[in-house]
Amino acid sequence: MKKKQFQTESKKLLDMMINSIYTHKEIFLRELISNASDAIDKRYFRSLTEPETGLKRDEYEITLSVDKDAGTLTVSDNGCGMSMEELEKNLGTIAKSGSLDFKTENQSDNVDIIGQFGVGFYSAFMVADKVSVSSKVYGAETGYRWESEGVDGYTVEPCDKETVGTDIVLHIKPDTEEEDYCEYLDPYSIQRLVKKYSDYIHHPIRMDFETEKPVEGDDKKTEKVIEHRTLNSITPLWKKQPAEVTEEEYKSFYSQKYYDYEAPLKTIHYRQEGTVEYTALLYIPSHAPFDYYSKNYEKGLTLYSSGVMIMERCADMLPDYFSFVKGLIDSSDISLNISRETLQQDHQLKTIAKAVEKKIKNELSKLMETDREKYETFFKAFGSQLKFGVYSDYGMHKELLQDLIMFISSAEMKYTTLKEYVARMPEGQKSIYYACGETPEKALKLPQAAAVTSKGYELLLLSEDIDEFTLQTLMSYEDKKFVNVATDGLDLSSEEETKKLEEENTSKKELLDFVKESVGGLSAVRFSNTLGGHPAALSSESGMSIEMAKVLSKMPDAGEGLKASLVLELNSDHPVTAKIKELFGTDKDKCARYAKLLYAQARLLSGLEIEDPEDLSRMICEMMV
Ligand code: ADP
Ligand code: MG
Repeated sequence: MKKKQFQTESKKLLDMMINSIYTHKEIFLRELISNASDAIDKRYFRSLTEPETGLKRDEYEITLSVDKDAGTLTVSDNGCGMSMEELEKNLGTIAKSGSLDFKTENQSDNVDIIGQFGVGFYSAFMVADKVSVSSKVYGAETGYRWESEGVDGYTVEPCDKETVGTDIVLHIKPDTEEEDYCEYLDPYSIQRLVKKYSDYIHHPIRMDFETEKPVEGDDKKTEKVIEHRTLNSITPLWKKQPAEVTEEEYKSFYSQKYYDYEAPLKTIHYRQEGTVEYTALLYIPSHAPFDYYSKNYEKGLTLYSSGVMIMERCADMLPDYFSFVKGLIDSSDISLNISRETLQQDHQLKTIAKAVEKKIKNELSKLMETDREKYETFFKAFGSQLKFGVYSDYGMHKELLQDLIMFISSAEMKYTTLKEYVARMPEGQKSIYYACGETPEKALKLPQAAAVTSKGYELLLLSEDIDEFTLQTLMSYEDKKFVNVATDGLDLSSEEETKKLEEENTSKKELLDFVKESVGGLSAVRFSNTLGGHPAALSSESGMSIEMAKVLSKMPDAGEGLKASLVLELNSDHPVTAKIKELFGTDKDKCARYAKLLYAQARLLSGLEIEDPEDLSRMICEMMV
């Protein structure tokens, strides 16, 4: 019989396709099962108007079988089948999709056909060196067999086939050094692949398993029995109406899919209608996975196209600041043949991702309002990620995220949102004040903190590395600037007080210069009236605060430039300051030593290391004896 050549550019395309379109060879099974499922839908659809052409609803099935000796895997369906012409047309031309034609011709809600690209079938050649398709349509005298060994071409000839439908026989390739093909002849591997990719195909996928069973009446003997198993779950949980799904079902689906044995904090399940249609089932875990804050963590949502899995962890579906969300998107608008490479250009997916992002945000806001305790549990686990989101991309997402973040407030040492803080601000308070420390308690102990709280103002107590970067990115909230208490020029004093302090700073300039000289490395020394009972404290001038400099200097590529410009503030009301003023006139040496001691104390209060501990120890001993 004469071998026919594949049409047009098909040869090249076939070669390319076999070797590169799909990253995973194993998806061939998903493609063949999807085609079989489409074929059943087509036959069912026809039977709505011509009942004699169809079967009873529960008779439709897809059967898989392996023959290890012959080295074949067979995928059979009792769907519509293909005539000789259709075999030629649909399988002889690559990128010819009979399913797409069918969809355009039969616009109906009843059909949920998966295929539309016309290349899926050829993925069979990724694992088989010969593919044989026997098919028969309703009312035909005989069946036809299409056969091909790949690029060389194909043959079509009549064959015996009793039932309507299609059998696809794959002659699995022999194993090579790089690739094991024999797993496609193992029923358990096949079962795993069906579970992974085709679990929610809405027709039963069945396969026979040979198992050993104890012989009845004789425990010692076993006999071989054939078990006819259905491999797929058939109805996806997410395709059910949310009202029909129990909390238990959501939970068990979550723990099975995401290997988390703690119940999720929140489940979000909804169907979006409109320009793009999709169903989403999303989960917010109740705790961070052990690798969440490491490089190994992979974010993403699983993508399904009408119940067929097309990508396990699609990173583009989630922004980094919501990377903790687990779940899936199912949309018939997504093409089956999407790959990581074409994903980023996919307009539909982008639209869906945007909508999903908005939904997550709204659900989190709602949770914050309706169940504060739960929200705080969430925030303890993932709050840093949200704060990082504000800071990242030059603050591009700050509008979206600023009302989701919280900080500990000095008021009751409890979490507060910025909105709540501003609403509680007393008359006369112009800025939002914050203090940084290793813990909120330590931040509250900063010398400058008391000046703020004694005025009856609240302080945000920042203790995470990212915190101050987040506030610096926000700059202000509802027109209230964020002010670090440990920066130069805390605007708390009255006009009169400020004037008095300025006068003192001018008249005692000589002393201040002497202290600066003695200590070294400072950008200024000044008198201050905001230190409460402390004699001295450090603050910083210009953009970089002491805490930010600390964080940045921990980074692996920290340079010398990452230093805060330190200002030593001396409490103008403190007896020690009076003592220094006195010594400046009587004993310059001692005055210089005291200045160094004060500086050392101030460093300790700011959580900075002492530059020369030996020198400090010596000075203290001298004072003690
Ligand atoms: P797609 O599914 O994207 O249309 P495929 O390459 O997977 O492309 O299949 C090509 C065409 O072959 C299908 O559109 C369909 O018309 C036909 N076809 C494939 N498998 C079957 C089958 N099991 N039964 C009937 N028709 C089939
Ligand atoms: Mg297909």
